[in-house]
Parts: sequence; C-alpha cells; structure tokens
Amino acid sequence: MSTNYMTIKFKSIPENEKLARRIIAAFVSDLNPTVDEICDVKTAVSEAVTNAIVHGYKNKDGTVTLSACYNGGTLEVSVSDNGVGIEDITKAREPLYTTQPELERSGMGFTVMETFMDYLDVISSPNEGTKVIMRKTIGSLNDR
Ligand code: ATP
Ligand code: MG
Repeated sequence: MSTNYMTIKFKSIPENEKLARRIIAAFVSDLNPTVDEICDVKTAVSEAVTNAIVHGYKNKDGTVTLSACYNGGTLEVSVSDNGVGIEDITKAREPLYTTQPELERSGMGFTVMETFMDYLDVISSPNEGTKVIMRKTIGSLNDR
C-alpha cells in the first residue's frame, strides 16, 4: 500500500470506542504493520475517542470524526469533535492533569497518545471543539 486515506463519523457513545479501535486496526492492517504498531495505534485512537465522548461531549449526543491517511510510510490519524473544547492545551497535555478526578480519571490519556505515537498535536478552541492529530511510521521500509 503506497497511499491511502479514509474518514468515518460516528455517534459519541461509549460503544463506539470499540468500533473506532476496530476500524483503525483494519486500516493499519493493510500497511504491513508489526503487532506492536497495530496495538500502539489502537490504544492512542481509543484514548482520543474516549476524550471526545467524555470530555468533548460530556456523554451527550454528538458526532466524532476519525480520519486516517497513509503516505510515504507515515500514518496520520486525527480524531475530532465539535464539543466544549480545551481552554489551556499545555496544561491538559501535562501528565496526571485531569478535570475529572472525581470520576477516577488518571489524566494520562494525552501522555499515552504521545508515548505510543511519534507525534501529537492538539488543536482546540473553547465552544468550538478539539482535533487531535497523531503520526507514526508504520510498516517495513520495502513498502515505501
Ligand atoms: P484519562 O485519559 O487518564 O482517563 P483524562 O481524560 O482526564 O484521564 P487526558 O486524556 O490526558 O486525561 O486529558 C486531559 C484533560 O484534557 C481532560 O481531563 C479534559 O479536561 C481535557 N480534554 C481532553 N480531551 C478533550 C476533548 N476532546 N474535549 C474537551 N476537553 C478535553
Ligand atoms: Mg482521557
């Protein structure tokens, strides 16, 4: 596979975290990945989708968009919502920072995304929504 892309939109319900994991795994499967690469991408996407549902839409109805693009050996995945947005992105990205300690969230989602992917960017405005962009090199050199 030299280049490919896809976009899906789904309802912001917890059940769709599983759907998003399966879809991104299916997309990545065609890129000659290692098992670790598939696991890493699934985990990172899962964290971003959970954030969109629980923080962005606060468990209310909304639409989450998952896009993936593969080009030159690099996978770019984005997860976006039109929810409440993030006021202080730098703070939100700090390990252990959470606005929901009472729900026993650990504040490690962005740290997980950063650890499992090669690159993470967070674009967000209050009342407009949030877009998380992640990149990772996938597949063997022969396929590029
Ligand atoms: P954990 O992911 O460990 O369960 P968490 O979700 O609070 O806990 P992060 O995923 O690192 O931790 O997110 C940090 C904070 O950034 C969240 O507590 C929330 O305030 C904010 N945030 C993250 N994603 C979004 C989003 N899509 N919309 C609005 N706020 C968000
Ligand atoms: Mg989180």
